[in-house]
Amino acid sequence: MTQVPRPNSAAARDVRSQLHPYTNPVLHEQSGPMVVTRGDGVWVEDERGDRYIEGLAGLWCTALGFSAEERLARVAYEQMRRLSFYHPFGHKAHVPGIDLAEALLAMAPVPMSKVFFCNSGSEANDTAIKFIRFYNNALGRPEKKKIISRLKAYHGVTVASASLTGLPNNHRDFDLPLAGILHTTCPHHYHGAAEGESPDAFASRCAEELEALIQAEGPDTIAAFFAEPVMGAGGVIVPPPTYFEKIQAVLKRHDILFVADEVICGFGRTGNPWGCQTFDLKPDMIACAKQLSSGYLPLAALMMTESVYEVIRDNAGRIGILGHGYTYGGHPVACAVALETLAIYRERDLFGHAAAVGPRLQARLRDLADHPLVGEVRGVGLIGGVELSRDKASRQPFDPAQGVGAAMTRHLHAHGVITRVIGDTVAFSPPLIITEEEIDTMVDRVARALDDTLAWCRAEALV
Ligand code: PMP
Repeated sequence: MTQVPRPNSAAARDVRSQLHPYTNPVLHEQSGPMVVTRGDGVWVEDERGDRYIEGLAGLWCTALGFSAEERLARVAYEQMRRLSFYHPFGHKAHVPGIDLAEALLAMAPVPMSKVFFCNSGSEANDTAIKFIRFYNNALGRPEKKKIISRLKAYHGVTVASASLTGLPNNHRDFDLPLAGILHTTCPHHYHGAAEGESPDAFASRCAEELEALIQAEGPDTIAAFFAEPVMGAGGVIVPPPTYFEKIQAVLKRHDILFVADEVICGFGRTGNPWGCQTFDLKPDMIACAKQLSSGYLPLAALMMTESVYEVIRDNAGRIGILGHGYTYGGHPVACAVALETLAIYRERDLFGHAAAVGPRLQARLRDLADHPLVGEVRGVGLIGGVELSRDKASRQPFDPAQGVGAAMTRHLHAHGVITRVIGDTVAFSPPLIITEEEIDTMVDRVARALDDTLAWCRAEALV
C-alpha cells in the first residue's frame, strides 16, 4: 500500500490490470495495492506476512471473520456437486432457495410475507424501487412515485440505488441523483442540532423537515422512504432515540412505504438480530445482504409484507408476468451457504455474543473521546464511529484537502488495523466473533494511531 510495487509482483500486475472501486487511481498507480492473501479470525495477512485486525469485517460483511469455516466450504462443495445452478424464473425453484426464504421469514423483525433474492445490496434496493413503482401503478396512483432518502445515506451504487445514496462522491459527474429521488435531513445530532437543541427536539425537527418536504412535493407524489437503522458508510450515524418514532408517524400519515435497509445492520450488528429491533422500526420492506452469507458468497434479499406482496401479485398476474429478476439472484450455492451461515449464527449464539461484547467496544471507543483530535464517538452494538475534529469546541471538521483522514488511515495501517476513514470518521464494524481481548487490542492500536496522527497534524501545522 505504501511502497512502489516491484516489477511483476502481484501489486504491479494489479496496477496494470485493475480499476479499483472507491480508490484514487492516480495514487494507486504510484503505491499499488495491499494484496491480502489469507485470514484467520478477525485477522488478515498481506503478501509480506504482516497481520492486521480487520476492524470493518471486510466491507461490514464477514460476521464469522476470516477463518476457513469448513462447514460453509463443505455445503458449497456439496451444493455445487448436487445442482451447481438453478434459478427461480418461470415457476422453477430450488430447495436451498426455498429453505432460505423460509428461514428469513421466520426470523424477520416484523411479519414479512415473501422474499425476493438478489446478489447485492444495491440490487435489493433497486428492486425495492421498481416494486414500489409497480405497486403504485397497480393501485392506480401513477403520480405517487417519488422516493425520499436521507443526506449521508448509503444504499448502493447502481443508477437508482446510487441516487438513494446521499453522498456527493456517488453523484458528482455520474449525473445523479435521478429525478424523483429526494434527500431529507441527516439525523446527526452532533452536526445538525442547533446550539442547545436536545436530541429529542432535533428528532422532532428532522420529522418536521420531512413533513415539509412531503408537503412541498405533494403527499400524493411520495411513494416511499428508505433508511438504514444506523447509517453505516455515510459515517456511522446513530439517530436520536426518538427519531424513528417521529419519522414513522409522518410516513403513516401520508401512506408512504417504509423500506428498512438492513444491509449493514442485519444479522446482529447493532446488538439485536435486526437494526429494526434496536430502533423499533415497522418497515414494509427490508433489504438485507452482507452478513446474510458472512461475505462467503454474494447474496441479498428483499422481504416484503403481505399487503405489498398482494398488490404486486395481482398486478403481475394481470400483466401475465413479474418482469424482474437477476440471473444469479438466489443462486443455489449462495443460498445453501447462507442457510448454513444462519445455522452457525444460531448454534454459536453469535448475535448474543455480539450483544455481550458490543458494550466493550462502545466503552473503549468512548474512552478515546478525550483525545485532542476526537470530536465525537458514536455507535451501538458492534458498530462504531470516531470522528476527528479540527476544533472540539466548534466541532469544525478538517478541510478534506489537508488529508487528515488519509493520514489516519496510514497510521492505523502502520499499527496493524484495517478500517475505513469516511470523511473524518474512523468506522468500526469488526467481525461479530471478535472477543473483548481483541477489541482491547484493536482500540489500543487505534489510540496509538490517533497519537501519531496528532503528531503529524502538529508537524503540518493543521492544529
Ligand atoms: N445498503 C447499505 C446500507 C450498504 O452499506 C451497502 C454497501 N455498503 C449497500 C446497500 C450496497 O450493497 P452492495 O455493495 O452489496 O451493492
